[in-house]
Amino acid sequence: MPLVAYFSMEYAIDNNMKTYAGGLGILAGDYMKGAKDHNFPIVGIGIKWKQGYTDQLVDDRGKPYDTYHNYTYDFLKDTSAEVSVTIRNVEVRCKVWKLDTFGTAPLYLLDTDIPENTEPWITGQLYGWFGEERIAQEMVLGIAGVRALRKLGIEVDVYHFNEGHALFAGFELIHEKMSVGASFEEAWRESKEEIVFTTHTPVVQGNETHPIDRIMYMGANLGLNSKQLRLLGGTPFNMTVGGLRLSRKSNAVAQLHGKTANKMWRHISNRSEIIAITNAIHLPTWVDPKMISAAENGKPLMPLHQKNKQKLIAFINKRNGVQLREDRLIIGFSRRVALYKRSNLIFTKPEVIEPLLKNQKIQLVFSGKAHPLDDKGKEIVANLVAMSKIYPKSVVFLENYDMEIGTLLTRGSDVWLNNPRRPMEASGTSGMKAAMNGVLNLSILDGWWPEVCDHGVNGWQFGNGFESDSDKKSDAHDLNALYKVLLEEVLPSYYDTPQKWEEMMRNSIVSTRHQFDIKRMLEEYFEKLYQK
Ligand SMILES: *Cc1c(COP(=O)(O)O)cnc(C)c1O
Repeated sequence: MPLVAYFSMEYAIDNNMKTYAGGLGILAGDYMKGAKDHNFPIVGIGIKWKQGYTDQLVDDRGKPYDTYHNYTYDFLKDTSAEVSVTIRNVEVRCKVWKLDTFGTAPLYLLDTDIPENTEPWITGQLYGWFGEERIAQEMVLGIAGVRALRKLGIEVDVYHFNEGHALFAGFELIHEKMSVGASFEEAWRESKEEIVFTTHTPVVQGNETHPIDRIMYMGANLGLNSKQLRLLGGTPFNMTVGGLRLSRKSNAVAQLHGKTANKMWRHISNRSEIIAITNAIHLPTWVDPKMISAAENGKPLMPLHQKNKQKLIAFINKRNGVQLREDRLIIGFSRRVALYKRSNLIFTKPEVIEPLLKNQKIQLVFSGKAHPLDDKGKEIVANLVAMSKIYPKSVVFLENYDMEIGTLLTRGSDVWLNNPRRPMEASGTSGMKAAMNGVLNLSILDGWWPEVCDHGVNGWQFGNGFESDSDKKSDAHDLNALYKVLLEEVLPSYYDTPQKWEEMMRNSIVSTRHQFDIKRMLEEYFEKLYQK
């Protein structure tokens, strides 16, 4: 099997290791753990973020604010390897740490926080900045990343870029070949043979771009001229387009996302084929093994689930001082707070939702961070907090969403709600965690869900896959659909037919536990992406 070097800006490996922000990091962490469990030849390249992503808290007025802390990790090993990269004409040295605990395949983390550096902050905050600062971080990941592999003597067959952040690794591969005499075209062609690329975001604006001048000014071009840069990434330089043109093959992260990505990038000439390989999760990290074994052996599920629900309720009580009821439905909703995810959709019509919250037929638990520079996202967080003050017994917002909250919520909720504007959710792995824990998905047919949803059997869909160019139309349509399924199917099933509910839990677990196990995804990566 080929040896794969996986490049990712973030990795969610352990809750005490603040090297992740959200779904992209969760995927990378699960992938590295799956590689270890199933002996796939993979090494990871990432960054040792000194302050991680924001710790986002809520103040007395109910507004979110960002805090940062310095983290040190005594479980990282010093490889004593050091590499350097020239950023804005200044040599930046990068220390290379190795992580091989927490059940992960070898993960090498670059770190610029050393006394010799005049700019040690480059590996300071994950997604902390845009523009030049972001390029500096990406130069460390990509360029210093390849140099670290060389320094460590790791002979790589395939370079896998998880999202466009790693693109400059491709420039380094081209640069290496041109330094020993290859022409640009030859070096590009040969490098492409070694690279595969995963694209994630189906939102056009979410794909990072930079003016070509900025890339040259930073020194990220490694000697390529502006015409050559334009051939790779267009102008302004689009990191995703660059990834598509610098790779032999690309993949989207769910079957529907494959269609969306192909449509979105259809006008890009000279790009690699985009196939679809649906994301998956690392079961030992996220799933209660007792639930799986009970589901497979025909044992009762409810008593086990109630234990997980009690744990969630106790956690909420400790954090927020709110006592939720164990005999009433809990709907969980936690994700990155971005507009298209519509976290507060369910509150749109108070005349529908208010009576259900007042008599505690429904208890809603939210969590999620907005990007520190996303004011609109922060307004949504503030709105969710405001709702928790209006309905203090039945609406909860847990601040500072992280792996611990993710685990508790995807085990202890009864229903997992997901209502993005279709088709903007690329995959959505939290729903897989929920499904395997017997937490029933109530979701728009977006991301991974259309692949397995059997309405009323292993969960529910709403919206029937409706799409519209008008956000207003899409929101109104999906809101009505959500209320209808919630009132006519979810609530009666929960309160009136507990046996049917338990059967659905069983179906949910059994229908997802293999198909969305990280082992399946790794096998597909090797068969369809890595093997030539
Ligand atoms: C699972 C998980 C995610 C990814 O979930 P989505 O469904 O993509 O939103 C993000 N953050 C945390 C902490 C998680 O546990």
